[in-house]
Amino acid sequence: MLIVQKFGGSSVADAEKINRVAGIIADTYCDNNDVVVILSAQGDTTDDLLEKAAEINPNPSKRELDVLLSTGEQISVALMSMALERMGLPVVSLTGWQIQMSTNFEYGNARIHKVSTERIQQELDKRRIVIICGFQGVNGIGDITTLGRGGSDTSAVAIAAALHADKCQIYTDVEGVFTADPRKVEGAKKLDEITYDEMMELASLGAQVLHNRSVEMAKRYSVDLEVLSSYVRKPGTKVKEVVKNVEQMKISGIAKETNVARIAVCGVKDKPGIAFKLFRILAKAKINVDIILQSIDRNGANDISFTVAESDFKKALELVRENKDVIGYDEVMGETNVAKVSIVGAGMLSSSGIASTMFEALSDAGINIQMISTSEIKVSVLIDEYNADQAVQVIHNKFFN
Ligand code: ASP
Ligand code: MG
Repeated sequence: MLIVQKFGGSSVADAEKINRVAGIIADTYCDNNDVVVILSAQGDTTDDLLEKAAEINPNPSKRELDVLLSTGEQISVALMSMALERMGLPVVSLTGWQIQMSTNFEYGNARIHKVSTERIQQELDKRRIVIICGFQGVNGIGDITTLGRGGSDTSAVAIAAALHADKCQIYTDVEGVFTADPRKVEGAKKLDEITYDEMMELASLGAQVLHNRSVEMAKRYSVDLEVLSSYVRKPGTKVKEVVKNVEQMKISGIAKETNVARIAVCGVKDKPGIAFKLFRILAKAKINVDIILQSIDRNGANDISFTVAESDFKKALELVRENKDVIGYDEVMGETNVAKVSIVGAGMLSSSGIASTMFEALSDAGINIQMISTSEIKVSVLIDEYNADQAVQVIHNKFFN
């Protein structure tokens, strides 16, 4: 079999961990498999590099930042290869540009265009273990790019897809995907399986197991994906198209996102074109709007509130203020002490009352819901950030106890 294994930063944080991971790789290789390994930077290396950059220049160009950030992964692959060499195994480390992981020009958040398999295949043909830097690529003029924070998962899935690998295993410091963050939520359970769609929702709603673009890509290319622990050797969570038992499992998981802010534009004219003007201004500035709520008409005016990422909050508020005359409203208010709590489950497609169960849990706990948004397989509520952890716990108790 051809197996792609990705190990995150915490799994390769120090020499002892590197040796443990080398053991997993060696066993896979010695079981007569071809092995391609994707690594992240060790521990907090990427954050440390960002700090280093800030000491020199608070506003460096994204191009130079990528040159810097990509070095973290290069350290990991060299050290891992040395660990395997020491075990007497044939191994080669490769960077993103050596394998021609080609991306677009968006430094800091580049999208993968194509992964060339030539070099990797040559090395596999020599029965070598191939260790590749995650998170990095090369654009059309040969510059180094990075794929956005957490992007090594996406590197791994892209390489697995390009190689038509039999399996893509994402090793991390938890045993798989849980119904909620096991470090914070009592009774959180590991899932044996989850669908690509559910995982995609969870990843974009704040669950930090997988980079959401990696799941999107896994779905598109039907990559056989599994999330598992690099500490305990047992099966993790399989991410796939359809899973057994969806009907029984009403929801698969609960996610919390605190990096959100709410903006309320009050007293806008109730006539066609206003929402368009408002959201076009934000879209032009590349600000993503998430939940939108419009109140009903009161004497020809209404209120539009919406959420944005907290990191876009200042800019969004500024834009709305600057364009007061264009949009036409009485006043605008914003707040950042809010959190989005979401439940996700493919079972929602076939059973009713799931949203009301969630609301009941919040109501019993006296937690006020400020906004609600739903899709086929998720329900999100916006609440006071102060209540977020409690909200996740009470919703979890309601569904899983
Ligand atoms: N090292 C990068 C980061 O910290 C990429 C990754 O870990 O996936 O974001
Ligand atoms: Mg990660």
